[in-house]
Amino acid sequence: MELKKKNEKEILQLVECEIETGEKIPLLRYPLLEKTGLVEHCFTTRMGGVSEGIFSSMNLSFTRGDDEKAVKENFRRIAGTFGKSCNDFVFTDQTHTTNVRKVTKEDLGKGITKERDYADIDGLITNEPGIILSTFFADCVPLYFVDTKNKAIGMSHSGWRGTVNRMGKVTIDAMTEAYGTNPKDLICAIGPSICVDCYEVSFDVAEAFMEAFKDNTDEILYAKENGKYQLNLWRANELILLEAGVRKENIATTNLCTSCNEKYLFSHRASHGKRGNLGGFLMLNVS
Ligand SMILES: [Zn+2]
Repeated sequence: MELKKKNEKEILQLVECEIETGEKIPLLRYPLLEKTGLVEHCFTTRMGGVSEGIFSSMNLSFTRGDDEKAVKENFRRIAGTFGKSCNDFVFTDQTHTTNVRKVTKEDLGKGITKERDYADIDGLITNEPGIILSTFFADCVPLYFVDTKNKAIGMSHSGWRGTVNRMGKVTIDAMTEAYGTNPKDLICAIGPSICVDCYEVSFDVAEAFMEAFKDNTDEILYAKENGKYQLNLWRANELILLEAGVRKENIATTNLCTSCNEKYLFSHRASHGKRGNLGGFLMLNVS
């Protein structure tokens, strides 16, 4: 797998994870999150699953027209990389909100082996070990949070709407309220998503960012001759985390773009919507 990187830094590692039943699943992992010793995590690729066609092969969406059996098998494999089963996942219900849910063992399996009794949830937080927080992407920005002091975690989905509404900060605030998290103790990762060169937006989206990032507009928006803009969601999310009090050295920002790597990662833009979902997963280890 030849992934195109935006810089040569060692931000993400591609690993091949062999599960109990013998399948080998390629996954992306952040050394910065690994180093905490507190969590298991990954970001998936298109490889290592059983789905076909536009969903080939590791599609993690039940709602885009793929065969349910195939998607279940894909999830079984991802659970296997955590040494877990599908009963250990808890899913978001992503609708571009900034709603964050505090998750407990009561929620185990919700979204896959049990009905979700909640809706419109774009972020999940927990301080209970063994729960796999599960979020889904195809260009939008995944955010990972590990509170090393209070042993709590969070994962959220931050597309352009989530970014304008500072989903990163909202997730941190939810962790502070629930677990007493101090942003200084957070290790964060900004996950594989669409890069500035691939992400052209119209004036109304640009205008929302000008309003939301008044002091840093020139760091995230580039005006073009056609009246459109290139938008840097990676930098915008970094700015949000820094502003919330996370230390610069504790933030790992992806150098992998979903659209630049359409062959190996699902991209909504690059595929014109004919695509499956990638997954971002985070679990607190049992200590
Ligand atoms: Zn790109």
